[in-house]
Amino acid sequence: MQKTVHIIGAGISGLSAAVRLANANYKVHVHEATQQAGGRCRSYFDAATNLTIDNGNHLLLSGNRHALAYARSIGTEAGLVGPKLAQFPFVDLSTGQRWLLDLGDTKLPLWVLDESRRVPDTGLIDYLGLMPLIWSGKDRLVKDAIRCDGTLYRRLVQPLLLAALNLDPPEGSAGLAGAVVRETLLAGGQACRPLIARDGLSAVLVEPAIKLLQDKGASVRFSHELREFATSKGRVTELNFGDDSIAIAPGDAVVVAVPPRSAASLLPGLKTPTKFRAIVNAHFRFDPPRDAPPILGVVGGLVEWLFAFPQRLSVTISNGDRLVDMPREELANAIWRDVCKAGSVAGELPPWQIVRERRATFEATPEQNALRPGAATGLKNLFLAGDWTDTGLPATIEGSVRSGDRAADHVLAMSQV
Ligand SMILES: Cc1cc2nc3c(=O)[nH]c(=O)nc-3n(C[C@H](O)[C@H](O)[C@H](O)COP(=O)(O)OP(=O)(O)OC[C@H]3O[C@@H](n4cnc5c(N)ncnc54)[C@H](O)[C@@H]3O)c2cc1C
Repeated sequence: MQKTVHIIGAGISGLSAAVRLANANYKVHVHEATQQAGGRCRSYFDAATNLTIDNGNHLLLSGNRHALAYARSIGTEAGLVGPKLAQFPFVDLSTGQRWLLDLGDTKLPLWVLDESRRVPDTGLIDYLGLMPLIWSGKDRLVKDAIRCDGTLYRRLVQPLLLAALNLDPPEGSAGLAGAVVRETLLAGGQACRPLIARDGLSAVLVEPAIKLLQDKGASVRFSHELREFATSKGRVTELNFGDDSIAIAPGDAVVVAVPPRSAASLLPGLKTPTKFRAIVNAHFRFDPPRDAPPILGVVGGLVEWLFAFPQRLSVTISNGDRLVDMPREELANAIWRDVCKAGSVAGELPPWQIVRERRATFEATPEQNALRPGAATGLKNLFLAGDWTDTGLPATIEGSVRSGDRAADHVLAMSQV
């Protein structure tokens, strides 16, 4: 008989679990609280710019193997596009200096041996200084593991870790930073090619998953928020959605793939991260210069990464809590000034949109990292997924997909006992 699984939450973690289980011939039911799938990784039509934009610019790397496998499984790997080489142009707005970080295409970080490919004014010894991150324990701070000053830090380590951890790197978890360095810089250029969902996050990572699920007979219900569930003998026996409820038969499973605050209210007593950090994105309707790189790293300014899309320049600012209450127009003007300098463009402020995701990621400190639970719970047929569960990575798409895959594997293992 076909087994049934209910997936709560249609973010990337829920969708990846759903796809994996639908492919394993499960009868899948997805329940999403909002009217749209994708969670923190979604696109929408924005009237201010008259463009379909993403809630935030999302950068994947060629070494994000679970995320890429997920895209492959929904038929959209080709929709993740980027330069052929792992090259990252940078500009320092405080000095005007520009450089190209060229990580090559090897599986080893051989680029650090080649002066012309390294960050300017850095030497091999600076890179060796990052090694303590690789074997750092979970409770260490980045600032206790490596030097958080100097040219290499300012031009590479700080931008990389700020983007990955979404906080000021010195206060971040050295364990999580180490995982990032292991899977990026240390894994050589082959793992570092930047990839972007050029046609939009929803078109590449969300809608094709929904279509695949529906084609396989799954149900996907929107505005269907799980309020609570009933349990008996250590199992979930009923899901309650307010206006309706669903009985969970013996042998059926539930994957809860919701953000930590929702998970904690559904499962009282569950330990979850409790602190979060914001990410600010600005989108400008503006045709990028023809030679604009798809991604430009920016240091010494407000802007951190500048993305060039057809008809649009977009900016990401991590650890953005300080900007959350700034008047929108003032913020848009300040960001546009940086964009003009960094992107070598000029003009009045074009049509713009600012998206401030207040709880973009859990706070990647050792203290908050220690609050991340695994997939298994005290209930035998209920499993957790989400970028905030204990994936060993900061809150990223790669972490979300890994958590979804892991929860799905628990469901599959459950049916084998
Ligand atoms: C602005 C921004 C920029 C980012 N940039 C990057 C990047 O460059 N690279 C990268 O790898 N990652 C990036 N991330 C992180 C990435 O978006 C997240 O890690 C990922 O989307 C999280 O997916 P998730 O499924 O774990 O959680 P979510 O996306 O939060 O999904 C949870 C879903 O559960 C639903 N839900 C909640 N409660 C209930 C309920 N009771 N019943 C039913 N449904 C419920 C929610 O509505 C939501 O759809 C960024 C995030 C943001 C916000």
